[in-house]
Amino acid sequence: MAGLKMRTDPEIRARLGESALSHLRTQLRAVDCQTCGSRFRRWQKPALAVYAEGERAQASLHHAGCHRPGWHEGRLGPVPEGRHLTWRAGTFVMPSAMTFGLSSEDIPFFLVNPSYESALLQDSDGEGWRVWTVDLFQELGLDRGLEALKSDAPTRALSASIDGEWISITVRAGKVRHHWLDIPLTAETAGLVRSRGSIVVAVTTRVDVYQPLSHFQVEAYMAAGLMAVGVAALSSPKDAARRRRKR
Ligand SMILES: [Zn+2]
Repeated sequence: MAGLKMRTDPEIRARLGESALSHLRTQLRAVDCQTCGSRFRRWQKPALAVYAEGERAQASLHHAGCHRPGWHEGRLGPVPEGRHLTWRAGTFVMPSAMTFGLSSEDIPFFLVNPSYESALLQDSDGEGWRVWTVDLFQELGLDRGLEALKSDAPTRALSASIDGEWISITVRAGKVRHHWLDIPLTAETAGLVRSRGSIVVAVTTRVDVYQPLSHFQVEAYMAAGLMAVGVAALSSPKDAARRRRKR
């Protein structure tokens, strides 16, 4: 896959190198400009901006007229609050036959791509920048393997709530907060989540969740360690109502 065509500049190319840049081309998706929030037009080439602070950086896509491509050192960029950031999620049931023999029961899944137009980067070991978006979730306690298929022990940073035919997932750890709200559930999936008391949450930047994806592909990505996977315990309706009032 050739990946996304983006406008860069010599400094970005020199600092990131071809490996991190080609990873960004396959991960980033031009949905909305991270400066103005409007859509990219179909053939519009987005500008890549990188804001670096110490060993972390954030790369993001913008209309070339809103933000020129460039590297900015020592300050956070326009994206951290995530105002214009696109995320997409969906739910499905993984049949027990597809769980590598690790589960005798069907497993409800919440699949999310948390970051379409922006990616985290890290250069912790002096060996160069690498894309780090999914690693962040691993740091929050999600697993890079198949652990979530074996055990329904909840991941501390995750919680789930169901409201009718909609499910919401919250990630909460230190300063990190994600709320993936109101994703539709079928009656079958909702029933499974209620009887297990939890749902498996798989975080990936590999796919556009709105494109068709087979059980085989999800399984292959998990087995290859390309997703961060955890278990979100279902909070009682009372807890969920209390949280909603607080928001
Ligand atoms: Zn714009």
